[in-house]
Amino acid sequence: MHGLTAEEKKVVLRIDHDLQTKYRDYGISVEKTLVDGNQLVFTLSVGDIGNPAGWGTVTIVFEDGLDPDALTIALLEEILSNLWPDDDIDPWPVCRSHPEQGLQLLQPAMYSGKAYWMCPRDSGHRALVGTL
Ligand SMILES: [Zn+2]
Repeated sequence: MHGLTAEEKKVVLRIDHDLQTKYRDYGISVEKTLVDGNQLVFTLSVGDIGNPAGWGTVTIVFEDGLDPDALTIALLEEILSNLWPDDDIDPWPVCRSHPEQGLQLLQPAMYSGKAYWMCPRDSGHRALVGTL
């Protein structure tokens, strides 16, 4: 977690908490570098314990002074889109509020300025990132 502020570390811990509801033996690491005076470059690695970048590594760029919840969403989107293991086809995270109406996958999204997992069917079905 090299170079992260306390607030940025909290972002990573919230994501880590939720991913652990699916994967017990995985690891996440985030490093930050400052370029051009005001651009923050976050390098995100996710993988199995013992092979911490095994799922891959991506970088995202943010303006300095970013909102931690916006960072949370950006990191989650990268993990779900680009770092998820190809062989994992189990849907996650599933909205449990309406199982009889079919599976709905929660999506990371901002709601009232906070990072949530949101159900695409009903915005009332949501959970703060870090509370899955
Ligand atoms: Zn739902």
